[in-house]
Amino acid sequence: MQNISKEDYLSTIFRNLNPEGKIKPGLIAGKLSISSAAVTDMLRKLSAEGYIIYERYKGIALTSEGENYARNMVRRHRIWEVFLNKVVGMPWDKVHEEANRLEHSSSDDLINRLEVMLDFPEYDPHGDPIPSRDGKMPKIKRQKPLSELEEGESGRVIRVNDSDENFLGYISKLGIMLKENIVIKKKIMFDESLEVSIKGKSWNISSKLAQNIFVEVKRD
Ligand SMILES: [Zn+2]
Repeated sequence: MQNISKEDYLSTIFRNLNPEGKIKPGLIAGKLSISSAAVTDMLRKLSAEGYIIYERYKGIALTSEGENYARNMVRRHRIWEVFLNKVVGMPWDKVHEEANRLEHSSSDDLINRLEVMLDFPEYDPHGDPIPSRDGKMPKIKRQKPLSELEEGESGRVIRVNDSDENFLGYISKLGIMLKENIVIKKKIMFDESLEVSIKGKSWNISSKLAQNIFVEVKRD
């Protein structure tokens, strides 16, 4: 089993907080693919170190120290992803793993220099927002999963779930990338799969796939 660090826990918590700023231990276990026992152990530790507030039935919240720490890890990760994608030319399905390794070993100074070199990117290659040096998040555009569009509607991709490289590799083969427009030609009620058109080509995609692709919601 992979060794999961304190940093990984904190950034997983940070990225998956619900609108009330809480997260359940079971969700952390699921996101990190580990047992609840292992999660409970680490949560006790993080709570003792002052990074989280852990209330058994209410869930977990980050303290301000925990939040700053996690936000910085997320910033490091996403700036590395932009660098790997834009400068090194690594495809978006490969940058996540590589950034996981680099984020732990780089100084804040290096990250700040990369940010300048990359001209202060606001989003990573998967469309996730990058916190600025002083902890501000760029404005997040209104979005919804592709699966929620109706027949005949279309949407521009602004974010994809970055946690599975098989998924990212697969959707790349269909021509799906950020800013690409996807038209919903048909929704199949039987299994909720979708017939979509991308760059004039038709594809059948599963509802699970469509739930992990997010399109911009146009204001009216
Ligand atoms: Zn990413």
